[in-house]
Amino acid sequence: MELKLPPPPPTAAEPGEDAARGFRAGSEDRVTPMMAQYLEIKAGHPDGLLFYRMGDFYELFFQDAEIASRALGIVLTKRGKHLDRDIPMCGVPVERAEEYLHRLIALGHRVAVCEQLEDPAEARRRGGKSVVRRDVVRLVTPGTLTEDSLLDARRNNYLAAVARARSSSAEAESRFAIAFLDISTGEFRVTECGRESLAAEIARLEPGEILVSDALYEDAELASLWRSLAAVTPLTRDAFDGASAERRLAAYFAVSTTQAFGTFSRLELTAAAACVTYLDRTQRAGKPLLSPPARESSGATLLIDAATRANLELARTLSGERRGSLLSAIDRTVTAAGSRLLAQRLAAPLTAPAAIGERLDSVATLVAAAAARSDLLARLKAAPDLARSLARLVVGRGGPRDLAAVRDGLTAAAELAGACRALDPCPAEIAAAADALQQPDPAIAADLAAALAEELPASRRDGGFVRLGYRAALDETRALRDESRRVLAVLQARYAEDTGIRTLKIRHNHVLGYFIETSAQHGEKLLAAPFKGTFIHRQTLAGQIRFTTTELGDLESRIASAADRALALELEIFDQLTQNVVAAGAAIQAAAQALAVIDVVAGLARLAVEQDYVRPEILTDLEFVIEGGRHPVVEQALVRDGGPFVANDCDLSPPPDAGAGAGRIWLVTGPNMAGKSTFLRQNALIAVLAQMGSFVPARRARIGIIDRLFSRVGAADDLARGRSTFMVEMVETAAILNQASPRSLVILDEIGRGTATFDGLSIAWATIEHLHEENRCRALFATHFHELTGLAAKLPRLFNATVRVKEWHGEVVFLHEVMPGAADRSYGIQVAKLAGLPSAVIERAKLVLAELEAQDRISPARKLVDDLPLFASARRAGAATPAPRASAAETLLAEIAALDPDELSPRAALEALYELKRTAAKRE
Ligand code: ADP
Ligand code: MG
Repeated sequence: MELKLPPPPPTAAEPGEDAARGFRAGSEDRVTPMMAQYLEIKAGHPDGLLFYRMGDFYELFFQDAEIASRALGIVLTKRGKHLDRDIPMCGVPVERAEEYLHRLIALGHRVAVCEQLEDPAEARRRGGKSVVRRDVVRLVTPGTLTEDSLLDARRNNYLAAVARARSSSAEAESRFAIAFLDISTGEFRVTECGRESLAAEIARLEPGEILVSDALYEDAELASLWRSLAAVTPLTRDAFDGASAERRLAAYFAVSTTQAFGTFSRLELTAAAACVTYLDRTQRAGKPLLSPPARESSGATLLIDAATRANLELARTLSGERRGSLLSAIDRTVTAAGSRLLAQRLAAPLTAPAAIGERLDSVATLVAAAAARSDLLARLKAAPDLARSLARLVVGRGGPRDLAAVRDGLTAAAELAGACRALDPCPAEIAAAADALQQPDPAIAADLAAALAEELPASRRDGGFVRLGYRAALDETRALRDESRRVLAVLQARYAEDTGIRTLKIRHNHVLGYFIETSAQHGEKLLAAPFKGTFIHRQTLAGQIRFTTTELGDLESRIASAADRALALELEIFDQLTQNVVAAGAAIQAAAQALAVIDVVAGLARLAVEQDYVRPEILTDLEFVIEGGRHPVVEQALVRDGGPFVANDCDLSPPPDAGAGAGRIWLVTGPNMAGKSTFLRQNALIAVLAQMGSFVPARRARIGIIDRLFSRVGAADDLARGRSTFMVEMVETAAILNQASPRSLVILDEIGRGTATFDGLSIAWATIEHLHEENRCRALFATHFHELTGLAAKLPRLFNATVRVKEWHGEVVFLHEVMPGAADRSYGIQVAKLAGLPSAVIERAKLVLAELEAQDRISPARKLVDDLPLFASARRAGAATPAPRASAAETLLAEIAALDPDELSPRAALEALYELKRTAAKRE
């Protein structure tokens, strides 16, 4: 398979191989053997940066060095010359490589890591000119990371592959399969979907990297989707070859057929095989441990497109932070794996009432059992990130601390299993988790506990991680090593004594090994008899002279070999322990997943108790009744600041007298800041929480399963994609009107705000009619166009609601109470006054408003409701008939009728008179 990558980011202006090729072509004879090796390896990886291992450094050469030094801010140096040109070079120390990788990956680079595959001594044994064998062991790409420092502990990092099957007939839609896996946890799933939900499915997963075939990447219809995503990697056709997919997948799992995993369509197999083929290509040092692919049936999850997710701030706020999102408001998990699973569940609420009910049963059990809940949470706190440590051990990137994580994770798992079983009743989900927690062989944890020392180094190469007493041979070698060190001290004392040089020291460096050091002055003495027979001169420096002795040489080799042998023994033990863990990998993965389940359930139960949430009733009809609903995020923020949150009811169930096939639309009016947006969103969030299997912030909630959720806000900014805000609003509204079904829930907030008043009003108007007549979905529509409230008289399932405010001494007071009915006016000027607009502006605005309102009374837009034909007939006619104009006399009559002389102050009465006069004058 050949990797074909999208154009590199701007820093990689030209591929690094150019300079290299020139180097090789012109002067084969002048290339050092090592450079020749470098060039050959680099030629196989033209698209990424090559980290070429040389001792304790990864070195980069030529163009790679220039790119990396710029990107990382590290010094660019030179290493030799070629064709009279310097070879640019830079390097990063191996022990800090993760940090640099992190930065390069974040900048959109890919890195090929080339390691030394043998001990340099072996190469030397082959002859003076031999180069250490090296090869690329791993391609670091955004979707294939395992290091904690490169990953967010609380989020999955998916590698996804998208395959397409074109339909044979022209009318039928293409089908897509998405396979996705997380090599840091082993999860692997596949699902199928149509074109209309492809983007929504990708938005749910937020993959770190997406694999597509060249052809799909170039597809005109999908090009803008791929461009909007972070990392899309096109692959040549062979990776997406349907004929060989089954075989490649079976080969990865070392089984003869994938049938045991379940039934998959050819399309799903194709996508899944593309994933594993990519892993084979990028993870050469070790094959990541994956669970067999599991099939997600399409329609099993609530579809939420990217705009709706962003809008409802499910996983992050509009500004991109986790803080302030729904996820952060409901996350009471105590482990990273629990946090990841919670994010997964929130991203993909279910649609099957039975499955939701099962999750709610678990939460309900732990809500009722307070002691068990806090016991579970306390035990969970001791559980490290088992899945990710396991994943590193499997691919050979693990360290002693990962073994310790497995030890602690398995110990916590065994204890938790007991605690779960003690629950009475034990709900199905928790019972299944308890089974999984007990799967791993207890001997593994026991062996690790016996083997590992208290304090563990980060890298196994540091040694010292095996507990004293675990292996006799190791203990002996270590004693020898430590003993030799003591002998060294004795030797130094004896030499000082014998020579009379008090300051004589035995020192060590990497070049000389152990040596004896004296000042230059004292050293002269050792160069002469009687000492010159014993002390052999090694080096003369400005101030010191260095010597060795036969005795010191012997001791040195004893120390070195003991230390080497001790480390070799430790590494052997490490490999053995790792092998045992890897052999039990599937069981450990299952236990890790079960820990996450318990954490999520216990966390949601704790949330429910803490925040006073109730269990929602999940129904199969189109009901939607929320009593005393609250906004989960705004409520917590308000309560923190000491304010109360006003709970509100919402009922979108089909009205009894208007047919059961369709729910209601609520048209919510009210001044700015009244709480319209909050009310709209809280109902959507309650639905999301209910279907993900959480209790909800309400006194009571009855929810008929929702299949798709849509939420749009008028005039949202999307400058990044270069579309006008109004255009975005309309594109998104179009998507809803084309896709929403009677099972969907639609939230539209101030649609039509982004354009001139009459345009906006007309669009909002037609949108409501379409939702009512065509989509027939449950919907909440907030608007500042009061004219629209008249529509309720004509559309039987449209209901007016308003958020109450009180006027108090000319100031507006927000009550945040949602009531049936329509807002009488918008209080914009009062709100502006609250906001501190200068009083001259406020007074002037009042005058202008009075004038405008007077005009509107002449020809009120809401009168259109009576005059316009119904939506359906308008659709047939293709256009609405314009409203007849009111005559001047009618207008004056209407204005006079609107006056209430008892309510008018003398001054207002005078003003009203002037007003009438003005109207009359204009109309003459
Ligand atoms: P609108 O969309 O009508 O302009 P918002 O929904 O943005 O109003 O609400 C404005 C502010 O009012 C919010 O930031 C919130 O602090 C407060 N608020 C909204 N709803 C409530 C409520 N039910 N209880 C208490 N405060 C609320
Ligand atoms: Mg609003």
